[in-house]
Amino acid sequence: MIPAPIRSLPTHPKGPEMTTPIAESSAPTAARMIIGGEAVEAADGQTFEVVNPATGRVIATAPQGGPVDVDRAVAAAQRAFEDRKGWASWAAGKRGRALAKLAALIKEHTDELAGLESRNVGKPISGARGEVTGAGLVFDYYAGAANKIFGQTIPVSKPGLDLTLREPIGVVGLIVPWNFPLLMASWKVAPALAAGNTAILKPASYSPLTAIRLAELALEAGIPAGVLNVVTGPGGSAGAALAGHLGVGKVAFTGETTTGQEIMRLASGNVKKVSLELGGKSPNIVFADADLEKFARESPYSVFDNTGQDCCARSRILVERSAHERVVELFAEATRKVVVGDPADTATEVGTMVSFKQRDRVKDYIEIGLAEGATLVVGGGEPQDPALAGGAYLMPTVFDGVSNDMRIAREEIFGPVVSIIAFDTEEEALRLANATPYGLSGSIWSRDIGKALRTARGLQSGVISVNSNSSVHTEAPFGGYKMSGIGRELGMSALDLYTEVKNVFIDLS
Ligand code: NAD
Repeated sequence: MIPAPIRSLPTHPKGPEMTTPIAESSAPTAARMIIGGEAVEAADGQTFEVVNPATGRVIATAPQGGPVDVDRAVAAAQRAFEDRKGWASWAAGKRGRALAKLAALIKEHTDELAGLESRNVGKPISGARGEVTGAGLVFDYYAGAANKIFGQTIPVSKPGLDLTLREPIGVVGLIVPWNFPLLMASWKVAPALAAGNTAILKPASYSPLTAIRLAELALEAGIPAGVLNVVTGPGGSAGAALAGHLGVGKVAFTGETTTGQEIMRLASGNVKKVSLELGGKSPNIVFADADLEKFARESPYSVFDNTGQDCCARSRILVERSAHERVVELFAEATRKVVVGDPADTATEVGTMVSFKQRDRVKDYIEIGLAEGATLVVGGGEPQDPALAGGAYLMPTVFDGVSNDMRIAREEIFGPVVSIIAFDTEEEALRLANATPYGLSGSIWSRDIGKALRTARGLQSGVISVNSNSSVHTEAPFGGYKMSGIGRELGMSALDLYTEVKNVFIDLS
């Protein structure tokens, strides 16, 4: 079991004990989208298969939605938004109470949702349960925030009263990835709904199942039909139709940087508001005066957790040269202890990758690292255990002797691979850390608080931790510098992403 504080996403407290077995049903279930409160097929009846990457078996089919389905969902969301007695007109506290009910239902359904997520993306069941708990906490947070969204009174120079109103944008499109499917959905759906918007959620094709259950639970919580719609389908058709739709006022996206760039282009048609949470190549900066044992004990999880499929993965370890040898030794030893295994086993710390395709892509990077002259210290291939032969597993892999210009140090691998790079001075550490187009996360290890703070201030990253891996907190802003994104999710900052500010001047002369 991975203790909560060392995980890179903090919204993973351990969930309640599992009461139902995680069994794979023999017949795949036929999932349906939720549009206007109804469970529906795609307009053309097409479906796609949802596969368990630990077994290669099809566990469900889902509708292959496209532009026509997006049109239907936008129309439903518009009706729900414009309903004069509907969601947007509810007192904020009433919206908050419905979101709190949804949070309670998520908690009640922890076993079911965690089982679905674990089977769908190969996530260890203990981590999946923590994520479901985390998603519930996000809904709880924004349930409480709903009636704390307020404007200002401003002393302008004309005689009168100037005040601002914070208003919902209208219909918002929420496009999420497959690495933390329910959690990423909660980061967007909860603040969007708290502010009074209506939404269309588009999950990744690998992982549509928990998004659909979320919309069903929202209906059960009393959130009116049409307020939360889910369209499943490929990014290139359903996702693109949503990002480009003229009836959508804002698009929030988490995924690859190149997809984010395409979404900005698509959103320009009606100058949609855009917020983006994109890729990363985050550093773990280790100074020689740090508690090296603590660093080595905790840091493997900052890159290997979720099989490295984490935008915040600290995939570059920059270590002061005088501590280099010791850090490699300690980190390698700790990495060998990480428990890779069947996602359904509660002792498993690292399950499979999301798919065989993704696993093969990461294996290619391991070949690239070897060809570039990096030294393989740990891992580098699939597990030896024959019981794991049928799944998309890959062992945690450590490269030493890496230089910052190698591809494995520059590109987001999105798998369990870390590169160790030595530096000589504080200035060089910062120069190496910042020599990337990304700027999402980062950790700094030092007992010298001045040095740690100077480094934190110099690092071009949105979320930084010192002497800890824990850089993401439900209550605090999360987002990236440079090509890692636009905007800040979580905390009260997320509400800025889902509200318009209206200034009203009243003449009192
Ligand atoms: P992806 O960009 O391939 O897909 C993300 C979502 O976008 C999916 O729902 C997909 O169907 C959709 N999509 C794809 N093409 C589209 C298009 N042309 N128009 C509209 N939608 C489209 O990303 P992924 O592979 O699902 O996720 C992995 C990536 O996400 C990594 O780069 C990772 O760093 C990033 N990520 C970032 C954060 C963050 O908060 N910064 C968090 C998690 C993941």
